Amino acid sequence: MPTCKVIAFANQKGGVAKTTTTLNLAVAFVEEGHRVLCCDMDPQGNLTMSQGIDPDTLDKSMYDVLVHHISIREVVKHREVDVACASIDLAGAEIAMSTMIGRERQLEKALKQVEEDYDYVFIDTPPSLGLLTINALTAADTVIVPVQCEYLSMRGLVQLQNTLAMIRENLNPDVEIEGILPTLVDLRTLHAKEAIELLEENFGDRLFASRIRKTVRFAEAPVKGMSVLKYDPDGLAAHSYRQLAKEVLSHGNR
Ligand code: ADP
Ligand code: MG
Repeated sequence: MPTCKVIAFANQKGGVAKTTTTLNLAVAFVEEGHRVLCCDMDPQGNLTMSQGIDPDTLDKSMYDVLVHHISIREVVKHREVDVACASIDLAGAEIAMSTMIGRERQLEKALKQVEEDYDYVFIDTPPSLGLLTINALTAADTVIVPVQCEYLSMRGLVQLQNTLAMIRENLNPDVEIEGILPTLVDLRTLHAKEAIELLEENFGDRLFASRIRKTVRFAEAPVKGMSVLKYDPDGLAAHSYRQLAKEVLSHGNR
């Protein structure tokens, strides 16, 4: 019996590499032979754009899946990975869904229809803990939390943990943190080392052993509509996401 594992990438802080991690980990999973769908739940459509798709040219997107209940298959584009695309109209979905019964479960329902087609679904979320992120956390089996290694962004983790506790109590009792991922790491600074120590103290074995270092490759690749694994296949950046893929795959059904 094939099972589809759903992983959400969440942190209400922007610029912590949620989208970068969603795409590059997905491509690393594809390299390992897995069938992966990336679902863009951010109205900014950065994930969609990072595969060279212009959100403004889409006639159907995740908005229509969530609000008009069209099949998610209709908004999937096939690139390095399959992407369920988003555009700016998704910003209106929270209001459009607000009076729906089961508004927190629209994404979960949409993904049920494709669970046979994929081994993994990766959900990229917007920088907020609103209804779009709640839909993602409700649909998810586990959550990967990219964290930029600085004190201020780590304080936001408490808020995310509170939201997860609420989700567990009301919507999705089994959702777990797959792991906390230090991103944009600059090991030359004392600050980054201290931040990682603090994460180790607070999260123990929930902290991934993988670290994603800061490199300019990550800014260059999306401009070309590529993952870093394709843009610079032998570089350190690609290597770190392949390493992370091995780590996540070794968790199995955690
Ligand atoms: P989020 O989705 O959390 O807002 P992004 O994935 O869009 O964050 O990343 C924010 C910015 O940081 C982007 O411009 C991205 O290219 C860049 N970036 C991501 N990871 C790295 C990295 N390891 N090193 C350098 N720049 C990075
Ligand atoms: Mg993003």
